[in-house]
Amino acid sequence: MNRIADAPGKPVATPQQELLTWYAKIGRDLPWRKTRDPYRILVSEVMLQQTQVDRVIPFYLRFLELFPDEKALAAASTEAIHRAWKGLGYPSRVERLRGACQAVLARGGVWPDTPDGLRELPGIGPYTAGSVSVFAFARVVPVVDTNVARVYARRDGLPLPIDRDGVWSHVATQVDPHDPIAYTNALMDLGATVCTARVAHCDRCPWSHRCVSRGNALVHAQTANPLKVEAKKVAYGVEVTDRKKPRRHIVLALIHHDGRYLVAKRKQDQHLGGFWELPGGKREKGEDDRTAIAREVLEELGAEVRSARALMSFHHEFDDRYLTFHVYRCHLFDPAVVKPLASDALKWVTPEEFVALEFPPANAPIQDRMRRYHRLG
Ligand code: SF4
Repeated sequence: MNRIADAPGKPVATPQQELLTWYAKIGRDLPWRKTRDPYRILVSEVMLQQTQVDRVIPFYLRFLELFPDEKALAAASTEAIHRAWKGLGYPSRVERLRGACQAVLARGGVWPDTPDGLRELPGIGPYTAGSVSVFAFARVVPVVDTNVARVYARRDGLPLPIDRDGVWSHVATQVDPHDPIAYTNALMDLGATVCTARVAHCDRCPWSHRCVSRGNALVHAQTANPLKVEAKKVAYGVEVTDRKKPRRHIVLALIHHDGRYLVAKRKQDQHLGGFWELPGGKREKGEDDRTAIAREVLEELGAEVRSARALMSFHHEFDDRYLTFHVYRCHLFDPAVVKPLASDALKWVTPEEFVALEFPPANAPIQDRMRRYHRLG
């Protein structure tokens, strides 16, 4: 994923590969990373909700000796579970945990494996549901806590205040489909040990070459706790923008063929007529990105998409709305059939021509990315 083009001669690591390579060398060895048992993973997630990792480890190991599976916990007395939890704090957590186990047993002992299904269990919120879904069932779904939001806010320059839905959908485009477990663990380790709230150790970061905030202390301070920024409305001197503005998601197709990219010229009678842009448009209700891309490409070019890989997402604030752009690198079944059905002209351009074209200002991050990738100064 996120490979802009096939660099001549040398394979280019994807962001996912870069992170996984880093994780293979320095990832934390934690007991709950050695199991795929949903019960044991849920125990760890609930313990970690308000307690530091180092403190959780001995409690986790002892708790599992006492209550090795959901049946044992579901049948335990209130007194016994509180005794086992003593010292961890927030004791209502263990009652919620037991309630979830009882609900699983009431379903015949079958654990739901999707975030939506897990959220039907009592006391399970979106973060915990995502975590269990990934770590127990290897589902390719996003899991966003403040560490994860911080890393993406910094790496990709997400605007503040962070929009919770926006960051979840942004992370959803980034999860490694081949190894979501390692990828999610790696992301959490990166946020906990390298891209931390207090300091960003950019010199140790596997993504430093692709991070728009590398070495920028002001942005690091502004994004230290990105999910809290939203809650406070004003934080770190950053004025929180109008949250009543509508938010739209725009999908764009960076169509690649034979070393060139396809660009379309906006119609003269449109806003920003004469500017060049990527084919694409608004994601409609009920569509996912790839469905929207396929529809837009068919409508605007008369062509069918063969493959679409998530490349980047970024945001732009207008006076009356926020737009989140999701760019996909696409190949067509037959590049020769494209026609300018919704534009004044189409052309296939080299990377050098691409970065020299006049794009709408909101699309500048795409040209910046191409410039960096192709080392065009
Ligand atoms: S380069 Fe620095 S700011 Fe960017 S993701 Fe890495 S540690 Fe965080």
